[in-house]
Amino acid sequence: MEKREELYAGKAKSVFYTDDPERFVLVFRDDTSAFDGEKKEQLNRKGMVNNLFNGFIMEKLEAAGVPTHFEGVLSDTESLVKKLDMIPVECVVRNVSAGSLCRRLGVEEGQELTPPTYELFLKDDALHDPMVNESLAVSFNWANEAELARMKELTYKVNDVLKTLFDEAGMLLVDYKLEFGRSGSEIVLGDEFSPDGCRIWDKETRKKMDKDRFRQGLGDVIETYEEVGRRLGINFH
Ligand code: ADP
Ligand code: UDP
Repeated sequence: MEKREELYAGKAKSVFYTDDPERFVLVFRDDTSAFDGEKKEQLNRKGMVNNLFNGFIMEKLEAAGVPTHFEGVLSDTESLVKKLDMIPVECVVRNVSAGSLCRRLGVEEGQELTPPTYELFLKDDALHDPMVNESLAVSFNWANEAELARMKELTYKVNDVLKTLFDEAGMLLVDYKLEFGRSGSEIVLGDEFSPDGCRIWDKETRKKMDKDRFRQGLGDVIETYEEVGRRLGINFH
């Protein structure tokens, strides 16, 4: 497999063509951003930590029956993935209240949500990722009803797998965002799962162990991501 020219550079990752038209290389960069790109920094080792973290999680999900784009880690900061036709809708499950939910509804952070909630957001930085719903997604042709039902089913399945995984390692999976795409007629999990796109708290102390450390200027961002990974059994270099 040969890496070819760059197709797209996002805020944290870049997508490269390969000599196989059905496969891309995802490059995890050290760039870190929050608030739709308004706060930006380079964090040493972040690309490597998130790439290896994502590879570990994607393999767990695949083994549990979630179809993912992940094909393998190529280097510290690169992974090979299936090319997907990305759906511009972000799927969010919350087990505990935090972030935009608290701002939107005026509820306190840390409230257990039973059953877990499910929300959709349009992937559009210029509009600050507005909340949408299935009716809007169908009417605007972002995805059809069957695709949306599958995205919801898979997003909850990810919760079953990962809530237990984090719990057994002494952590609470508070919430997370997933992105899906089409591979032929199949809905497949794309993008990444790393501490950049979810909230993870220590079960006992409730210490924040995710991107909120960067958003809120709490320090030790990558050291804490590595601690999450180590607790799950990931070996970083
Ligand atoms: P953003 O676009 O939000 O700035 P990133 O920096 O993470 O995000 O860029 C990665 C981009 O690659 C995202 O737009 C994501 O939707 C897209 N992407 C992720 N996985 C795939 C895939 N398998 N096929 C095509 N595009 C993908
Ligand atoms: N999230 C993300 N990318 C986004 C928006 C949200 O990865 O563009 C993640 C975020 O890290 C959190 C979850 O989705 O784990 C829910 O985010 P929320 O709606 O609370 O928004 P936030 O306050 O984090 O912007």
